[in-house]
Amino acid sequence: MMAGGEIERLIQLLAKLPGLGPRSARRAALAMLKRRDTVMLPLAEAMEAVAAAVLNCSVCGNLDTADPCALCRDSNRDQRIICVVEDVADLWALERSGAFRGRYHVLGGALSAFQGIGPDDLSIDALVARARDAAVSEIILALNATVEGQTTAHFIAEKLAKAGVVVTHLAHGVPMGGELDYLDDGTLTAALRARRAVA
Ligand SMILES: [Zn+2]
Repeated sequence: MMAGGEIERLIQLLAKLPGLGPRSARRAALAMLKRRDTVMLPLAEAMEAVAAAVLNCSVCGNLDTADPCALCRDSNRDQRIICVVEDVADLWALERSGAFRGRYHVLGGALSAFQGIGPDDLSIDALVARARDAAVSEIILALNATVEGQTTAHFIAEKLAKAGVVVTHLAHGVPMGGELDYLDDGTLTAALRARRAVA
């Protein structure tokens, strides 16, 4: 142990974050400790404010501090196309690429027999209900190129077969096992533009 209890606890909490092992958690903690007024306290206040205000959008499942979320409220976005993603991270990746200007639907994961995740654990019924809206004409399945993601895509495509919408999926170019969040913006944009109807 290099420091007192409170500092050690901060480091242990930081180490729980993705991308931060114990070593980088120490570096992050030290950077904050050295910049208490300009980084640490503003960060603590921002975290407290966001934690108190954050919620899941009741329409699409996105995380925001308002419900419906800013994306669902934006009347400049195309209401005819819904892009289905596994996680908010994938939504953020697509927004970062700037390639998609429609609406989203966050499933909350992918089907997985191994992890015991079934259809009722995902936001699939809500998606089917949204797809039946006459204003919606296309559903893009932007799921990860993993076994779970593709199993989920097939399951949803069958569920949507009678919903009166065109169902498409991202073009290949998303590497097998690839998660959208890790793709560069160009690859993501190309995969979205070259999307194809689900056979
Ligand atoms: Zn929303």
